[in-house]
Amino acid sequence: MKDVRVLRLGHRPERDQRVTTHVGLTARALGARGMYLAGRDAGIVAGIRDVVSRWGGDFFVEDGVPWKKCIREWKASGGVVVHLTMYGEPVQERVADIRENDRILVVVGAEKVPGEIYLLADYNIAVTNQPHSEVAGLAVFLDRLFEGRELAWEFPGARIRVVPSPRGKRCEEI
Ligand code: SAM
Repeated sequence: MKDVRVLRLGHRPERDQRVTTHVGLTARALGARGMYLAGRDAGIVAGIRDVVSRWGGDFFVEDGVPWKKCIREWKASGGVVVHLTMYGEPVQERVADIRENDRILVVVGAEKVPGEIYLLADYNIAVTNQPHSEVAGLAVFLDRLFEGRELAWEFPGARIRVVPSPRGKRCEEI
């Protein structure tokens, strides 16, 4: 089982709350183990932990993380750093190499990321070379990395789960 974590840079509490929450929820739903948030936002931490407590799994979220230290320590412990950016190399050409690693830190920005990231990262990876969103980039990257297997992964300890149905909304308490 790979240990994939997300580092979210550039979060501005006054305008990025919704997108940063979606970065965390998408990371969790698609197989990442946790999210480091460079910056403080207790509301985001509480919101994601609330989802974990109801919907299961052991996804973690940590705010106030010094991003350079996080990257340095990750690399020192043998992990690789993948920065998602529209300026990078096409995901479809590099994902097989990246998949050979067991510990992967995926870095996503909000607005403009510090230029140093491009040099600190082991891979600068683009999900198309068109501008779009960190949520979309992360989702496609994780799905390519896990080759779709994450779609069927389960979330142990859930108190609630969806009963998939062709119409309407069905959930059950566990
Ligand atoms: N204009 C900003 C810049 O030049 O750094 C990027 C803003 S974009 C809304 C926020 C984040 O989405 C980026 O930092 C990157 O992580 C991600 N992103 C946007 N387009 C992407 C793409 N084509 N491939 C991979 N990631 C992308």
